[in-house]
Amino acid sequence: MRKKINRHKFTSLEKILLLILGIIVFKFIISFVNLPLLNFIPELKTEAALKRKYLVLVRLEDNKEYSKVYNLLSNELQKEKSLSDYLESMEKSDKKNNVKSSQVYINKIILDGNAGYIDRTKTNCLNENCSQTKIQRNYKKWVYENYHWRVANTPAPRCIRKEPYNIAPEFERALNLMKQRFNDWYKQYNTENLADWSYLNCLDIQYSNTDKTEGIFTLDEEGSNIDRLLIKVDYSYRNNDDLLTAFVLVHETTHANNYLNSIMSGDKISCVEDEVSSFYNQLLLGGLFNQEERESLNRRLQKGYNNLNNQLKISWDLLDLKDKARKICRTEDFNNCVMKEVIPLIEDMVRNNPYYQKQCGLN
Ligand SMILES: [Zn+2]
Repeated sequence: MRKKINRHKFTSLEKILLLILGIIVFKFIISFVNLPLLNFIPELKTEAALKRKYLVLVRLEDNKEYSKVYNLLSNELQKEKSLSDYLESMEKSDKKNNVKSSQVYINKIILDGNAGYIDRTKTNCLNENCSQTKIQRNYKKWVYENYHWRVANTPAPRCIRKEPYNIAPEFERALNLMKQRFNDWYKQYNTENLADWSYLNCLDIQYSNTDKTEGIFTLDEEGSNIDRLLIKVDYSYRNNDDLLTAFVLVHETTHANNYLNSIMSGDKISCVEDEVSSFYNQLLLGGLFNQEERESLNRRLQKGYNNLNNQLKISWDLLDLKDKARKICRTEDFNNCVMKEVIPLIEDMVRNNPYYQKQCGLN
């Protein structure tokens, strides 16, 4: 004989109560299942898995749950910094940045072997109603280790392109010359490892019909972005030699670098500062050229100021300022005095030049 089961029938009210209870239990479990527990579940080496993990990081950072964020750092980063040091540094940076809330938009996810890059735009609200913002676009580097995605080295990579753009060989040679002279200089001070030349792969230098009143070389901000820094060079420049090209290119690559910094950090430098730093680097490179290169440049300058093309006139003007700085210093100490004293002189030159007055809106 079958045993009669007395089945309980739920009333509608009981069903609703059960549903609410279910939701509460579910939420409780979710809040309890924190990252160490999830760490048992391996993640796939895919864009989707990396995106999921990144969104976890964003949520934790928003909630300032930094001890959980610490669990997401790579082994290397955890070895570099203890949890307490990390928490302290985050507290400091929160105080400094004073961001009320932020929103993240993922532009692209790029996988490369065991590395993953998130190209993201972060809009930081600097006040409660978000009328003041700071927008940063940069890469967050991740590394796939022990079947998990973890946050890799903290400084955001400047350019993740592995290959340079297809640029004319004369530009390639000029960039190499520039890199070599700066590296020789860094080597003297054992700082060559700190030089980040990765941005060279993001430089796209192309001949075009530029408006010559705007200069022969221009950084085209409209055509530029985080992975493409477009420098346009007027066709009329074609027949110049590598030395002069390097001298002019260092000016534009400084603009490109300043532009990249402003995208990445969300901080803009002024138009005058931008020009001063570009001229400064031109003068610096001029001083780093070897004997033969300097003699070659000097030979051309001997034609007299009025017979020089614009680039050589700039070279002349900058050397003139350097002489003035040398007189102020009363020494030949290039690094510790002359190159410091020359900065305000370059700034005066920019501020008093009608071309830059117009460009920088100084009138
Ligand atoms: Zn400029």
